[in-house]
Amino acid sequence: MEFDLREYDAFRDEVVAYCKQKWPPDGLAPPYRAGRRAEAAFWEEAAQCQRELGERGWLTGAWPVEYGGGGWPKVKQALFNELAAYHRIRGTGNANLGVSTIGPTIMLYGSEEQKREFLPKIARGEIRWSQGYSEPDAGSDLASLRTRAVADGDDFILNGAKVWNHSQHADYIFLLARTDPDAPKHRGITQFILPRHTPGVTVQPILDAYGQERWTLLTLEDVRLPRTMVVGEVNRGWYQTVTSLDFERSQMAWVGQGRRLLMDLIAFLKTKTRQGRPVLADPFVRDQIGDLLVCLEMARWLGYRIAYLQDQGKVPNAEASMSKVFATETQQRIERLGVNLLGPLGLLSAGSPWAEQDGLWDESYWSAPGTTLAGGTSEIQRNIIATRGLGLPR
Ligand SMILES: Cc1cc2nc3c(=O)[nH]c(=O)nc-3n(C[C@H](O)[C@H](O)[C@H](O)COP(=O)(O)OP(=O)(O)OC[C@H]3O[C@@H](n4cnc5c(N)ncnc54)[C@H](O)[C@@H]3O)c2cc1C
Repeated sequence: MEFDLREYDAFRDEVVAYCKQKWPPDGLAPPYRAGRRAEAAFWEEAAQCQRELGERGWLTGAWPVEYGGGGWPKVKQALFNELAAYHRIRGTGNANLGVSTIGPTIMLYGSEEQKREFLPKIARGEIRWSQGYSEPDAGSDLASLRTRAVADGDDFILNGAKVWNHSQHADYIFLLARTDPDAPKHRGITQFILPRHTPGVTVQPILDAYGQERWTLLTLEDVRLPRTMVVGEVNRGWYQTVTSLDFERSQMAWVGQGRRLLMDLIAFLKTKTRQGRPVLADPFVRDQIGDLLVCLEMARWLGYRIAYLQDQGKVPNAEASMSKVFATETQQRIERLGVNLLGPLGLLSAGSPWAEQDGLWDESYWSAPGTTLAGGTSEIQRNIIATRGLGLPR
């Protein structure tokens, strides 16, 4: 691996200056301030940021120029994603599936018409997507999905249910459905683009542990979709999906978010005393923080390695799994340490007069378990590392 981030120093300064004027000087972004049920505000903010970043050409800087990108090296995009996440800028990284996975999938497998229709809109930050992969009975074993798409002339008729998506705020759903029930399970799946407001589509909110309507259950009842909405080849969707999940796993957002949390914790602990001594002076605390800083640095380089490999024209696979496991598990360790050190007051929500750091830790702690599940659990990533990375038998 060989690249030099100093090349982008001027760009880094420009991004940091933009980020700093976005939020108030103490740096805590609005959703934390709003506390529980701030979900609508989050997505509204994300949509607005997405458009602004699109106008600046930062959203899809590493996309080819012909598709509305800036032709940057992926390493530069990774730097941007890391900085944006650190500064809690919405509309990038995990909050923008169009940029991170769906756009690149359309680039690889979509028709010319789909590329013309969707890619410039994603680059300009004009449309929002959700990912309709998981089903009530198909998560880790995604290929066992049961949503059916049956050919009917120039259309497909879709029936089924998709869970754990963000379809309440999406314009389009990038969907997997079974098109050949008789084929072996990996071979009968197709990717579709479904406009959210198609007749027969119902979106119901799911309340999460934090009390927010963050997720949705999507049901499809005789939904008619033209063949032009098939992405790539019919029945080859599984293989296309495997590639697009690797895009998702190579994000730098976890690293930026984790570092920000840890920096917020350090800033707070500097002001906090216990039995007359600053908490940060405690060698046990310092040891744990030092360890996490090292882990974050490792997660950072695992993430940049993905970008570097992509710049070399390679498709990272086990490397993407390593990056995802390490970054998300490090983030969970930071959240756990923060809540442990803050004590019971750390679990109060924004709005409570006793909430530490405006309820930041309450929200992030409740969201923490999801990071090692979303996009494929840590166990599944470790299976990939073992089999595809280390060549171990199944
Ligand atoms: C925050 C979050 C965001 C998400 N976003 C989306 C989204 O946008 N779109 C979407 O379609 N889905 C989304 N999901 C769903 C996610 O992809 C699934 O939750 C995940 O793949 C696990 O599936 P499951 O929940 O059905 O668990 P299961 O597959 O039932 O797994 C249960 C447990 O068994 C373990 N396990 C299962 N199989 C194996 C195995 N072969 N080896 C070892 N251990 C195994 C798992 O690791 C897990 O611990 C999201 C989930 C979360 C939490």
